[in-house]
Amino acid sequence: MSNLLELKNVSKVYQRGLINSKANVALRDISLTLREDEPTILTVAGESGSGKTTLAMLLLGFITPTTGEIIYRGQNITTLHGKDRLAYRREVQAVFQDPFAVFNPFYTVDHLLTVPIKRFKLASTKAEARNRMEEALSAVGLRPEDILGRFPHQLSGGQRQRINVARALLLKPRLLIADEPVSMVDASLRANILETLRNLQRDHGVSIIYITHDLTTAYHIAKSIIVLYRGGVMEAGDVDAVIKDPQHPYTKLLVDSIPWPNLDQRWGETPIIAREDGGPDGGCPFRTRCPNAMDICTTRPPLYQTSPMQAAACYLHDKKPEIVAQRLTELLPV
Ligand code: SF4
Repeated sequence: MSNLLELKNVSKVYQRGLINSKANVALRDISLTLREDEPTILTVAGESGSGKTTLAMLLLGFITPTTGEIIYRGQNITTLHGKDRLAYRREVQAVFQDPFAVFNPFYTVDHLLTVPIKRFKLASTKAEARNRMEEALSAVGLRPEDILGRFPHQLSGGQRQRINVARALLLKPRLLIADEPVSMVDASLRANILETLRNLQRDHGVSIIYITHDLTTAYHIAKSIIVLYRGGVMEAGDVDAVIKDPQHPYTKLLVDSIPWPNLDQRWGETPIIAREDGGPDGGCPFRTRCPNAMDICTTRPPLYQTSPMQAAACYLHDKKPEIVAQRLTELLPV
């Protein structure tokens, strides 16, 4: 069974300042695997500064890891050149937060969709290009006759975001990095776009890494979740288990701070004392905000397997078996 994507102990460190330069760890020791024959939707959740956008940039090859490796279909992405690099660029697509950003107001939607067709030589005639566009638009639930020939200002935010998904789909991707794809879309259209993404995974075999700060959408779209805080994995596992029964105080804080109309959980049940952020390196990064902090928390906790499909990096679970980061994905359902 081959892997589509493998992250092996990936860290990203930025140095700030020339004199007395300080290291800022944006991402710390992340390992995960997506299998080629089992397309899935994995959520990476966290607040701003958690490292989730750094992860997206790494996966798209915009930046390189400081340590560790990102392996795509057996090849380290930092060493890809020529044909292989082009294939990676085609097979790994992104949908970003802002559904307006990729649109040039002076061009119709057709132009936006034609550019990747030309760049990746996906059609040899105009008719074939048109067919491809129509197919991709239909696949995301849009009627080509309502969309083609129109300018961006004639479309709603939800339509534009679905066009972005269609644009990615044109390239027949294997992996989609969806970075906050519904955060700028009206609440009424969110479910629609999430359903579109789910269809891509189910009907087109595309694996999706869904990056979000919003656990409600994570709950509705993904099977598994990784919760990041200050660049490190705090908790991971089956999305239902993690959200309904979080084992890490940080995940509890996230879950408890959001109203959950559809979950069997009372809002505000868990008292979380928010203290000033900024736990120093070396210990648990959450300890300055954690209501359960103990002396031992000045040492960074390993991941403990709290149930068959859940793990948390917290000493509250130190009686449970430790799990090394590389084996984390084995707990995640597909
Ligand atoms: Fe809180 Fe300690 Fe667990 Fe960190 S390791 S979340 S400080 S109890």
